[in-house]
Amino acid sequence: MTTAATVSFAHGPHPAPTSAERRAELLADPGFGRVFSDHMVTIRYTAAKGWHDARVEPRGPIPMDPASSVLHYAQEIFEGMKAYRTADGGAALFRPEQNARRFQESARRMAMAELPEALFVEAVEQLVTIDRDWIPDGEGSLYLRPFMFATEVFLGVKPASEYLFVVLASPVGAYFKNKASAISVWVSETYTRAALGGTGAAKCGGNYAASLLAQSEAIAHGCDQVVFLDAVERRWIEELGGMNVFFRMDDGSLQTPPLGGTILPGITRDAIITLAREQGITVREEPYSLEQWRADAASGRLREVFACGTAAVLTGIGTVRTVTGDFAIGNGAEGEMTERLRSALIGIQRGRAADPHGWVHPV
Ligand code: PMP
Repeated sequence: MTTAATVSFAHGPHPAPTSAERRAELLADPGFGRVFSDHMVTIRYTAAKGWHDARVEPRGPIPMDPASSVLHYAQEIFEGMKAYRTADGGAALFRPEQNARRFQESARRMAMAELPEALFVEAVEQLVTIDRDWIPDGEGSLYLRPFMFATEVFLGVKPASEYLFVVLASPVGAYFKNKASAISVWVSETYTRAALGGTGAAKCGGNYAASLLAQSEAIAHGCDQVVFLDAVERRWIEELGGMNVFFRMDDGSLQTPPLGGTILPGITRDAIITLAREQGITVREEPYSLEQWRADAASGRLREVFACGTAAVLTGIGTVRTVTGDFAIGNGAEGEMTERLRSALIGIQRGRAADPHGWVHPV
């Protein structure tokens, strides 16, 4: 198998980068996913040569044949991760090997070539190193988007034999802008995201394409995010369009839907389970139904709900809307445990707190 040691990254040509003044202007209010750094990393795969032709090059258009199989059968997967400015002025990634591993699992599910873990991590490091000045100061971060798609020029329906892996970097601020406090969610009882045996646990573009109509419905109902139910009974809470979800009960325990192949195994979810247990909080990975959610919100048994993910970090959910009526969680504001776990996580990510698990990966 090809490893990082056998692929070297060619550089250039590197034309003049964005001026420091223009970059400062862009970094002042980057929003989410609209501003991009100067470079990208690309690595090619062919069945004959394996992984080869790794490059760090100026970010720009990728010429594509219209018969490239991704345009027809959607073999495309991606990851989302961040580089943080650390307390000592350096840069760090958070558990990048977890993203590398999930990327391999996504590739396997989509019958795509698997990129070796070390090569994934090195590609991301190369981009963070060359575009280090694009990491915002303060609370922002540099969102990294590794992705891979089928480039074979062939219209037969079969796994492609050629792929392109790319990493982009985008400086970002808060995911939910203008949100001082908790967000609102719309529970979709019309559309589901993933069925057993489907691609729900893979981070493939198709899952997101399928979620967009439900997300638009959420927006039309004045909500920030959609919540999906299971595809069999339309009863159990699965996850949000782009985040996992946790419920905090009045006995101080946390509950989150279990990983069963239909939800994305979030790296933030995993970190929160670990951090919460270390703080003495009981965490159950057990199914939670919409009826129970409504009943527990009404009785006061449910105290807090939060969404979590790389982009959203931890964000309180204050209002839930459904076809059969709305309900609030507590007083509708973000809860105390959400804030506490968020600052514990951010403290580790930014090198302000101890890192007993070795999650922080300096670049
Ligand atoms: N669920 C979905 C559907 C997502 O897109 C994401 C974001 N990757 C998550 C959960 C959270 O995953 P992570 O914590 O690894 O960002």
